[in-house]
Amino acid sequence: MAGRDTCILCGKPIVARPIVEKINGREYSFDKQECALTLKKLKSVYGSDFCFNFT
Ligand SMILES: [Zn+2]
Repeated sequence: MAGRDTCILCGKPIVARPIVEKINGREYSFDKQECALTLKKLKSVYGSDFCFNFT
């Protein structure tokens, strides 16, 4: 494990099985499906220019 066990959206620790979504060729981990959906909505708002600085 790379130690990436916090949700990139809300920053909470992922205690259960992480939700992994592949966005723009990168995989992101979320603590729950709701966060993944929220991020997808944000992405659709910002369009292709949307990128992340979470690491
Ligand atoms: Zn979250």
